[in-house]
Parts: sequence; structure tokens; C-alpha cells
Amino acid sequence: MDPIVDLFPQLVESLREGVYLVDRDRLITYWNSGAEAITGFSRDEVVGHHCFANILRHIDEAGTQLCFKGCPLQQSIRDGQKRQAAVYLHHKDGHRVLVNVQTVPIRDGQGAVIGGLEVFHVGGDRTTAEQLEALRQKALIDDLTGVANRRFAEIELNARIRETDRYDWRSGFIFVDVDHFKSVNDRFGHPVGDQVLKMVAATLSGAVRSHDMVARWGGEEFVALFSRLEGNEQLRMLAERLRMLVERSGLRDEARSVKVTISLGATMVRSDDSLESLVKRADDLMYRAKTGGRNRVELGSAD
Ligand code: GH3
Ligand code: MG
Ligand code: MG
Repeated sequence: MDPIVDLFPQLVESLREGVYLVDRDRLITYWNSGAEAITGFSRDEVVGHHCFANILRHIDEAGTQLCFKGCPLQQSIRDGQKRQAAVYLHHKDGHRVLVNVQTVPIRDGQGAVIGGLEVFHVGGDRTTAEQLEALRQKALIDDLTGVANRRFAEIELNARIRETDRYDWRSGFIFVDVDHFKSVNDRFGHPVGDQVLKMVAATLSGAVRSHDMVARWGGEEFVALFSRLEGNEQLRMLAERLRMLVERSGLRDEARSVKVTISLGATMVRSDDSLESLVKRADDLMYRAKTGGRNRVELGSAD
């Protein structure tokens, strides 16, 4: 025998991956120390038992018990194909561990399947998935204020416009601009201006229901999207409430309280709207609120 091949079992023992072997009947015949570390089950507890004997109880993302429905290892033994899968195994301590498994059929000299090999490692993919999710969220969340950003708002608005045909209820859209914000920066400095934007964002987002949306459109402009409204009057009430809540908010800056007001343009979403037509209508209304004296709500015509 090749001396290196002789060392093979020892090498497998030194791997961090879990490695185990089963015979045709899925009786576990080998269990390395990597498998012990990942699962909490020692070799003695496992070798000589069937892998379906309620030990690892692999489940998939949907919670399906794979031992009974056909785990990847069993399938490999059945059809002679290699497989790769992400499954949640059951750790001896009771919790679930996401592992990536690879299963390989083992054949005798004549090519008949006589067992299977499974190699598994703790879900590297989960870290990647979590990182991706964090990135995805980050790309849709405004860094300064922590509310949704314009990209997210545009996605939501497009979805809501498409829905308007389909359901009885309607959505309402509000464009918000902070009044005289330049003078806040001028008087108190840019960092205080940033704090004020955070305060406004928190007030607005704290005032809407969980299925509504507040997003920072850019600079000192925000948008709010309300779903399931009965009509214009309800939208007016919601907009007035936002206006009042911001007016009643205030940052404590040493002795002074820094306060701002907002001007709002509010309109119902129409089924023939495009993103552009909807935003323009609300923005025009907001501008009317500015010229009408600021700290006001301007409502679109009921239709
Ligand atoms: P109006 O009532 O007409 O809206 O007056 P305004 O001063 O709010 O209008 P304008 O659009 O002239 O000023 C907006 C200011 O918002 C200018 C810009 O420096 C400031 N701004 C935009 N983004 C930020 C930010 O992230 N932080 C701070 N501190 N200021 C910002
Ligand atoms: Mg502005
Ligand atoms: Mg402004």
C-alpha cells in the first residue's frame, strides 16, 4: 500500500469537516471527530445505529423531516448520484445547525452501490446569506436616518401602483419637505441639521402602521406611503397627524430646543399613475403648501 494512502483514515480524522459512512441499509459504520464536533454526538453513540434512527433528524428549510422523505444520502445510495444540499441537522444539545452536505455513493468493484459517504461542514453559506441580506438591507436603508431609502421607496411605489387596479382599497402618497432647513444648518451647524433629520425621520416612521412606509427621498425630503385607505379624507387626517407630530418634536441643543416644521403634499395613488406622475403630483402639492405658508398639508382633489 502507498504510505500516504495508509495515512488516509488519520487524515480524515484531522479534518474539520464531518465525515461518515453508511452501508446500503444506512447503518452508520464510520463517524469522524469532525462529525463529533459539529453534531455533539460521539462515535460510540452513533456507529452501529441507523442514520434514520432519530439521531441527526435533518430537516430542510421548510421543516420537512428528510430522514423519512428521503435524505440526500439515501437518495445517493438509491440512484448512484452525488448530491449537495444545505440542511439543518439536530445537534445533541437540541439546537439546529445549518450544514452543507455532500453525499457520494460508494461502489464495489463491480459498480454496485454498497453504501454512502457524507461530508458536511457548518453552513459557510449561512454567513454568506446573512452578509448578503445585510448588504441588501443596507442598500435599501438610508444610512443617516435608518428609514428606507429612495430606491426602496421606488420599488414600493411601483408595486402599489400596480396593485391599485386589483384591490378595492387604495393607497395614499405624501411628499414631505422640511421647512427652512437651510437656516437650521446655518444657525446650528450641519451636525445638528443631521440630528434634526434623524428626529423627523423617527417621528414620521414612528407614526405609521407597520405595513405603511416612510422613506428618505433625499436631502431634507421624505415620502410616506399608506396602504388600505378609504379615501382622501383619511389621507388628510394621516398627513395632518404627521405635520402635527413633527411640529411637536424638538431636539434639545444645550439650552435651546431646535424645532422644525414640514410641508406636505398628499394624493391618492391612481391606477394610471406612473412613478413619475405620482411623485410629481405630490411634489407640486407640497410646493403649494410651501407657497401657502409652510407647516401645511395640501391635498389632491378627490377622485
Ligand atoms: P424650504 O422651506 O423652501 O424647503 O427651505 P429649505 O431651506 O428647506 O430649502 P432648501 O432646499 O433650499 O434647503 C435644503 C437644505 O437641506 C440644503 C441642504 O444643505 C440641506 N441638506 C440636505 N441634505 C442634508 C443632510 O443630509 N444633512 C444636513 N445637515 N443638511 C442637509
Ligand atoms: Mg427640499
Ligand atoms: Mg426644505
